[in-house]
Amino acid sequence: MSDVLVLNRSFYAIQVISWRRAISLVYADHARVVDEDYRTYSFEDWRELSEAIKENPSGYIHTPSFKIAIPEVISLRTFDGLPKSEVKFTRRNIYEHYNYRCIYCGHKFNSSDLNLEHVVPKSRGGKTDWANVVTACVACNLKKGSHLPDEAGMKLLVKPSKPKWRGSAAVVFRPGFQMKASWQRFIDNVYWNTELEHQ
Ligand SMILES: [Zn+2]
Repeated sequence: MSDVLVLNRSFYAIQVISWRRAISLVYADHARVVDEDYRTYSFEDWRELSEAIKENPSGYIHTPSFKIAIPEVISLRTFDGLPKSEVKFTRRNIYEHYNYRCIYCGHKFNSSDLNLEHVVPKSRGGKTDWANVVTACVACNLKKGSHLPDEAGMKLLVKPSKPKWRGSAAVVFRPGFQMKASWQRFIDNVYWNTELEHQ
């Protein structure tokens, strides 16, 4: 019926779960309800507040003795990490890791105008892995050819690296999934922090 966004203790979105699971986490005090002003509530506080909430977009759970508003966002009380997921070595992930920028000229391109670039060319023993494959625009890619950057007089603006984690992989949305308005700020949070990992 209604999905709930789960944040870790630092308010990074990490998961989407069912409202039943969310309520039981809050009930067991493993999680707190988060409102749109970033305030957090224990089960008791939220239950009390629920009496006063006139309209809750996600609806209510009614028990014989009380009603409780179904939360849209909860935060875990102790978990401060991010889900560990190996970032797959795919074209899309490489492009995203380098933010669709050419590693040599630094400009941003559409994916159709970017190439995968072996820093040490394959013909000279360069491997196809995170440590050696980056993104370059067509022009820079041609200019470099089968040379090493130094030989071609080109400089890498950032060091090739493997993404530590993938924020957008933390919360996976099915195609066409309707994200709730109240989730947006937390999803943005992930987005911006993912970017910083690349500096
Ligand atoms: Zn370029």
